[in-house]
Amino acid sequence: MTSFSDLGLNPSILKALAAENYTSPTPIQAQAIPHLLTGRDLLGIAQTGTGKTAAFALPILNRLAADRKPAQRRSCRVLVLSPTRELASQIAASFRTYGKNLGLSVAVVFGGVSAGPQVRALAGGIDILVATPGRLLDHLNGGMLKLDPVEIFVLDEADQMLDMGFIRDIRKIVPKLPKQRQNLFFSATMPKEIGTLAAELLQNPVEVKVTPVAKTADRVVQHVAFVDSAQKRVLLAKLLGERGMSRVLVFSRTKHGADKISKHLEAAGIQAAAIHGNKSQGARERALASFKSGQTRALVATDIAARGIDVDGVSHVVNFDLPNVPESYVHRIGRTARAGNEGIAISFCAPDERGLLRDIERLIQMQVPALEGYDAPRDPVRPNAEPHRRGGQPHAHGKPRHRGAAPGGPGGNGQRLDQRNGEQRPAGGFRKPFRKPAQRSNSPA
Ligand code: AMP
Repeated sequence: MTSFSDLGLNPSILKALAAENYTSPTPIQAQAIPHLLTGRDLLGIAQTGTGKTAAFALPILNRLAADRKPAQRRSCRVLVLSPTRELASQIAASFRTYGKNLGLSVAVVFGGVSAGPQVRALAGGIDILVATPGRLLDHLNGGMLKLDPVEIFVLDEADQMLDMGFIRDIRKIVPKLPKQRQNLFFSATMPKEIGTLAAELLQNPVEVKVTPVAKTADRVVQHVAFVDSAQKRVLLAKLLGERGMSRVLVFSRTKHGADKISKHLEAAGIQAAAIHGNKSQGARERALASFKSGQTRALVATDIAARGIDVDGVSHVVNFDLPNVPESYVHRIGRTARAGNEGIAISFCAPDERGLLRDIERLIQMQVPALEGYDAPRDPVRPNAEPHRRGGQPHAHGKPRHRGAAPGGPGGNGQRLDQRNGEQRPAGGFRKPFRKPAQRSNSPA
């Protein structure tokens, strides 16, 4: 399996990734980074939630760090175009986080705010500029910025640009770029117009496609239980005591956590085993065999260990910890409801995991109903403590959780454990519920 160091990234970047607890590259990162480091153009077909920001930010930072030179005045070495100010700010935050040990400059420009500070930020030259198209064009037309020294050009969320009417602006910006440059083009879908634009912009690109995973989530009945971290193990044992949880795959973020969970279940009289990279091959095989045979009711795994697990008839997936990469959530819950079977996924969400849940809900385009119908375990230290409910807790992890941890939605309309899919989604579905309304960024300052 590929690790970030296998990809050939600079040690300062690896250090920043370790500080973010990124243990291994996501598929799009593993596929795109080696090509981008060699200077190839890239056509990335991927949606948000796949780790695509780091897929382009890491090799870009690596290239700039390897070839240091001052950015020219009123210009930049890297230009990233993004459709919304929110996304532009998130991308800039990612560059700052991953590049925090490199001393490179990052600026973001978008419309709807005063242009003055942006002009001042650009004056001395910037290494990485992230911009929305309209405001960028304003700066170009006003002579505040020139693009001829740009070495790397990234067009992110191209289909969203099309939806928002930015393609004409982009067509005005591109001729101002130098002919010699590296181009990165990302889009979740490839409508004809976007295909044409990609063909015009890219030279002999590598194509990296990450299959949209969000659909898998439709087949699984999903619940979220809002619970304090300290109460998770008690809740898990309680749920496993309920009927119907016959073959349960439990996901833990860490290996140590997986061991602790499995020991706790055993102590509660539930046959359980842990499977992760610190276990010997033999121990892993034994754990898997006894899970397959039904002798072990709960198998506790890390994401990485779970990749090798191929078991049918998993009745429940429990996310003891929410995954850092939203896409992993879909892969995890896809372990149940296989071969036409129904499956149930229950995710534990501690107050510091609300931001992760929000990212997941954005990816799967639905709100996961809160799990009701269980007596929330009492906190042994505070016997009268109330169980957690939605309510906008801040996120944690020190990760670039750019999505912002906005307060959760209405929630509280969860289903009992034994209820099945179908009626639980709010009417009207959740098509793009988390997108900001279309906004032009070239409004006058
Ligand atoms: P993106 O698809 O770029 O919006 O990224 C989705 C989320 O995944 C962001 O919150 C990132 O911080 C997180 N992320 C990206 N790559 C990794 C990784 N290799 N390991 C853990 N988290 C990651």
